[in-house]
Amino acid sequence: MSFRFNFLIDENKNDEPDTQDKTDLQLCTPKRKQESTEKGKQTADPIADSSPGLGTDEQRDKTPSKKTVCVKTAKEHNVPEDLGKILETKFMETASGLYYINSSVVEKKCLDGADEEGIVSKSVSSRSDLISGVYEGGLKIWECTFDLIDYFSEAEIQFTNKTVLDLGCGAGLLGIVALKGKAEKVHFQDYNSTVINEITLPNVVANCIKGGSTMGCGDDKKTSKPPSKRPKKAEHLPDALTRCRFFSGEWSAVTRLLLSSNKPFSKYDVIVTSETIYNPDYYSALHDTLAQLLDENGRVYLASKAHYFGVGGGIPLFEEFVEERNVFRTSIVKTTDKGLQRCIMEMAFKDSS
Ligand code: SAM
Repeated sequence: MSFRFNFLIDENKNDEPDTQDKTDLQLCTPKRKQESTEKGKQTADPIADSSPGLGTDEQRDKTPSKKTVCVKTAKEHNVPEDLGKILETKFMETASGLYYINSSVVEKKCLDGADEEGIVSKSVSSRSDLISGVYEGGLKIWECTFDLIDYFSEAEIQFTNKTVLDLGCGAGLLGIVALKGKAEKVHFQDYNSTVINEITLPNVVANCIKGGSTMGCGDDKKTSKPPSKRPKKAEHLPDALTRCRFFSGEWSAVTRLLLSSNKPFSKYDVIVTSETIYNPDYYSALHDTLAQLLDENGRVYLASKAHYFGVGGGIPLFEEFVEERNVFRTSIVKTTDKGLQRCIMEMAFKDSS
């Protein structure tokens, strides 16, 4: 398993016209400046290695701003009829018993024209895995995802018959774990439609067709082949896949879409989310999304680095923000101190059981 990340908030990219999705954009404001990032450095930790460290800027940036941020239009992605096509030309790897697409191969395909948002070329040209309001990092698997997967197993978190949202899903591994845990429904959301089409959907399909309705696990060996020779057409979708829905767009827009949709919507029993609190400018939208979509007795499991140097977000700042809103109670249920400190936070409504 290999990880290569860069991390840079690129202000200029917000000025560029983006994709067809961004039709109901409000004002995109510049984000924090990151001054001396070593551009192009390949690293196993996007934050630690690319950040110059904040020093006094960190102190200055502590309060989430009330800026208006980009509102990327939300849409639902249908599962394509030909599941085989989704996995064509994909290079699969496995970790923690889950299949996932090798993102370098996807990035190459995207550079060859499969990326209508142009996020891969923008990411390559700016040498950044985050371009605020344009690309939010979902093509790569971020390390806290694996922290949360480990926590689910250590704490014996139950997904059976639960409705689950993988918020800011990227590769979607958290949602796939819930699906394997016999969740009744799993919804996947990412900011970028390219991520949903090229990474999330293929990953979910790969894991579904491998184990059929039981979603069997792979082993931990690497593999270069998709897990089945010729997957089925949509009329014979594996049971697990029929329990999934896929959405792209900014959090507030996705929330509006879900709440206004003709399709029946019941609030989520569990919302899982990893590495989504790096940017304090998004806290308001994130908080309101959780508040509007979580069932009254539901739980949020959030994995994050303690601090995102250079961007300003992190656990203490988000905790403070949540406390001020006075809607949720929070508790840190696990802390990992290897390298940069990372945490798992559990959230529940203040008046819940
Ligand atoms: N959860 C994945 C992981 O751990 O590998 C991806 C983490 S990536 C750093 C952050 C994710 O948060 C993006 O994939 C994006 O979908 C989501 N995200 C960040 N800001 C967002 C926003 N304002 N609206 C919607 N999604 C957002």
